[in-house]
Amino acid sequence: MLIGILGGGQLGRMLALAGYPLGLRFRGLDPNANAPLGQVAELVVAPYDDRLALERFAAGLDLVTYEFENVPGSTAEFLAARLPVSPPPEALIRSQDRLEEKRLFEECGIPVPRCAPVSGPDDFAQALGAVPLPALLKTRRLGYDGRGQAQIHTAEELALAWERLGRVPCLLEEFVPFEYEVSLLGVRSRRGEITFYPLVENRHVEGILAISRAPAPRASTALQTLAQQYVEAILNRLEYVGVLAVEFFVVGDRLLANEMAPRVHNSGHWTIEGAETSQFEQHLRAILGWPLGSTTPRGHSAMINLLGVVPPIEPILALPNTHVHLYGKEPRPRRKLGHITVRADSAHERDELLRQVLEFVSFP
Ligand code: AMP
Repeated sequence: MLIGILGGGQLGRMLALAGYPLGLRFRGLDPNANAPLGQVAELVVAPYDDRLALERFAAGLDLVTYEFENVPGSTAEFLAARLPVSPPPEALIRSQDRLEEKRLFEECGIPVPRCAPVSGPDDFAQALGAVPLPALLKTRRLGYDGRGQAQIHTAEELALAWERLGRVPCLLEEFVPFEYEVSLLGVRSRRGEITFYPLVENRHVEGILAISRAPAPRASTALQTLAQQYVEAILNRLEYVGVLAVEFFVVGDRLLANEMAPRVHNSGHWTIEGAETSQFEQHLRAILGWPLGSTTPRGHSAMINLLGVVPPIEPILALPNTHVHLYGKEPRPRRKLGHITVRADSAHERDELLRQVLEFVSFP
């Protein structure tokens, strides 16, 4: 089986590493010749819209998946006319536009923060009437890791922020005073089988994921059930195949959906050591129509992202049940260069290990 991966980042690299024990082979497509997947698999280096390169990429593949959500929808559709592409291109296309994504959540009965589209100055008054301040102005497209966002405290700031974000279509979104943030990874296989991982509690620094703890220490069984109900509605509506990650804000016993990623997700990296089946293997099983594995956690895990700087590895490796993953990327400020997972039998021991790892790690 030869699987094509659109995008050659660390997610693609971890997919390939999970697939080799299952006898799978991989070919990536990425415009960057140094993309991490290229360290472990064949890589076609070309822009995503290069049709000749897409033909070359597709030749001999059994199916295609993606690890990067800003692959153009037209690329996924071009390939889907020739080969099975999972998750469905519709999931990719809707997740690329924050307004479309919010509409999908609403169609699935999932609460979202109050928001309004802002395409230009004509929309300012209506948006300010619909969304209470403080709020965030977010670009509808190409925002990630806190980029493409501005805080709005006054009506005057809205006009300035819209200019600063490049006069592109935006969404004004109420600022949610959440208690904490969680994500749920749901998986639906080609056969329609569905599994969920436990809710993960996520801490962000400057809009970038810094630490995930799983199972989410503060989340009740009722919250897990509610999140599963929401994610299942999306999986079924899109006839989704693969791993889908949905991020939520927790407000009391309510969940407000923030965004989704139609791919394996950073908040699921802990599953490599911390769950019976990793999210990467589970994604491959799902897209191949193979039986899904158990998502049962092995005790309590925490994942720490290495952002911009790789710390000294040896003292971290000296800690028990601590696993280091480096992606082989050039250091740049805020860039995800690797992650560390700690695993323990109790939440208390896990938090103690986490504390020890954090002595070596700095965030932006
Ligand atoms: P996003 O790119 O939308 O995931 O935003 C990155 C991070 O910014 C989120 O994980 C939150 O920590 C924060 N954030 C985004 N939207 C909101 C909001 N409406 N209210 C409060 N915090 C937010």
